[in-house]
Amino acid sequence: MENKVLTVCPYCGSGCQLYLLVENGQVVGAEPADGRTNEGNLCLKGHYGWDFLNDPQLLTSRLRKPMIRKEGVLQEVSWEEAIGFTAEKLNAIKEKYGPDAIMGTGSARGPGNEANYVMQKFMRAVIGTNNIDHCARVCHGPSVAGLTYSLGDGAMSNSIPEIENTDLLLIFGYNAAVTHPIVARRIVKAKQKGAVLIVADPRKTESARIADTWLPLKGGTNMALVNAFGHVLIEEELYDKDYVSNFVQGFDEYKANVEKYTPEYAERITGVRAADIRKVMRQYAKSGKAMILYGMGVCQFAQAVDVVKGLASLALLTGHFGRESVGIGPVRGQNNVQGSCDMGALPNVYPGYQSVEDAKIRKKFEKAWGTSLPDKTGYRLTEVPHLILKENKIKAYYIFGEDPVQSDPNAAELREALDQLELVIVQDIFMNKTALHADVILPATSWGEHDGVYSSADRGFQRIRKAIDPPGEVKPDWQIISEVSTAMGYPMAYKNSEEIWDEMRKLCPSFAGASYSKMEALGGVQWPCPSEDHPGTPYLYQGNRFTTPSGKGQLFACEWRAPLEQPDDEYPLTLSTVREVGHYSVRTMTGNCRALSQLSDEPGNIQISLEDAAEHGIADGQLVQVYSRRGHIMARAQVSGRIKKGATYMTYHFWIGACNELTVDYLDPVSKTPEFKYCAVRIEAISDQ
Ligand code: SF4
Repeated sequence: MENKVLTVCPYCGSGCQLYLLVENGQVVGAEPADGRTNEGNLCLKGHYGWDFLNDPQLLTSRLRKPMIRKEGVLQEVSWEEAIGFTAEKLNAIKEKYGPDAIMGTGSARGPGNEANYVMQKFMRAVIGTNNIDHCARVCHGPSVAGLTYSLGDGAMSNSIPEIENTDLLLIFGYNAAVTHPIVARRIVKAKQKGAVLIVADPRKTESARIADTWLPLKGGTNMALVNAFGHVLIEEELYDKDYVSNFVQGFDEYKANVEKYTPEYAERITGVRAADIRKVMRQYAKSGKAMILYGMGVCQFAQAVDVVKGLASLALLTGHFGRESVGIGPVRGQNNVQGSCDMGALPNVYPGYQSVEDAKIRKKFEKAWGTSLPDKTGYRLTEVPHLILKENKIKAYYIFGEDPVQSDPNAAELREALDQLELVIVQDIFMNKTALHADVILPATSWGEHDGVYSSADRGFQRIRKAIDPPGEVKPDWQIISEVSTAMGYPMAYKNSEEIWDEMRKLCPSFAGASYSKMEALGGVQWPCPSEDHPGTPYLYQGNRFTTPSGKGQLFACEWRAPLEQPDDEYPLTLSTVREVGHYSVRTMTGNCRALSQLSDEPGNIQISLEDAAEHGIADGQLVQVYSRRGHIMARAQVSGRIKKGATYMTYHFWIGACNELTVDYLDPVSKTPEFKYCAVRIEAISDQ
């Protein structure tokens, strides 16, 4: 008999609600539900992305039993042995080297908010360190840092459904059609309703194709363009003087910093015509409701935080806050990356963005968790290879629901670092590249097999629900972590995910009123939701009260810096990592869905311009070798008229043609986010095929 279970899609931050169709204990299909963000629509991943639950074993196999490495080989063991081994090893390393020798991750993917809450609590209360971070560090870390500085909250100011009702969209470094198809649908609807569409992107993306003005800037010149935008707003007196004097601070310094960025000067750096820079800022400033949306094309550069602050400054200068369909939207990529940040899987904040360095807040958590807590910010995820290889500071790594060998830059260095550790714990659903380096593997339930809450990109808490029983002996993530904790001498005994959620709510003023029952009744709740009778908050900064320490929006501009690795004669092209619409992240899930794996498969593609393909004698579809200063891979050439000469693009989903063998690990100095969008490469055709 068929059963329909309402849940949330696990493939991007759009937070689309869907029904899983269950027959005889197996998921056999998915149907769109009438969710707040998707209103009865799904993209292809929502429609066909459930099949990995049936484990067709096209790519990797589902982890079903715990494993421990014995004499160099991973061997299946009982849960009792795996938990005992993990706890004993962690206690020994903590005793010998101190708590800060242990690093842990949260997970922005399937596990859900409750498991992230338990993981960060485990690292802080049981291990005794703030060394907890997750893959937000390699994507929207700059948004959290930059928007917190400028506005107070490191999240989308407005909501996904509001996009279609704006008068103007400025889309910067964001390819919605591929990363968030349901957001892209809102962009198309906005255009159909008459909104002006401005797209700044080196590639002619789908949004650029339908834009009123496409600004095809050179890769790595974002800050110069954003400064020039600010220059025009001030020089032409397009900014809102009353708004700035009442709600914004830092104007004089900002004005001085953008002074030299005339559109003509910026044109020489960015390649964007000065006349277009002037035109779009006139439109942006005069528009009644204007929204900025941005993505990885902003965040994955070593000057990302500055650009985030610069974009927020444009909205502050023009008063585009505190109303519907305005503001700034960092559209969070992975399904629950907003949630893992919300839950404090970050080295500097507890759940609810409460600083670990604030003594009063720390005391609150110490009282609730019954133990003393560390008072200094922990290590960032992207610092880990250096801390292991160069500083010998980390000895154990508990990797929960992530595959950094596939997803993080400079894979060879990361592999070398993992192999130097005394203990690598991998908790996941499938065998992955990182698990190949594990000393212990703890198999967990997947999306569809457990209950919980995800946070959509626009701060929306929504329930996920168990549809089927898990295979083998796998357990929910929060239960595994609780058992390790108990074995280490700090008993954790939650009955279910709601009990964890309620503990979290009591400690987080912004989330206090977002109960399971309210989510059931309303379909979801957007934070802030401070009390039981509060309905949630679709847009932030009502009344133009910002949540910065001063209560005012903070302007920011600074000098543009070129990307750190530049092409030369040996490596004449640049490489940027991108996404592909049919696949998600490290592809362990979508690669195991038969319908999706038919769309594209190994090896990954490298997109190259018509001019460079001709120059290097490369035909569309031809196999090529791609070299960088860190490694080389095989890929399939995809020759495209949408690519600028000198630039190439690869997705990071594929095992063969894994572009992170090539990428560089230069980091933004504030957020420590890697410069995935720019490194130097060389391509050579493989002739015998
Ligand atoms: Fe899932 Fe995102 Fe597609 Fe919606 S847009 S169905 S959340 S992948």
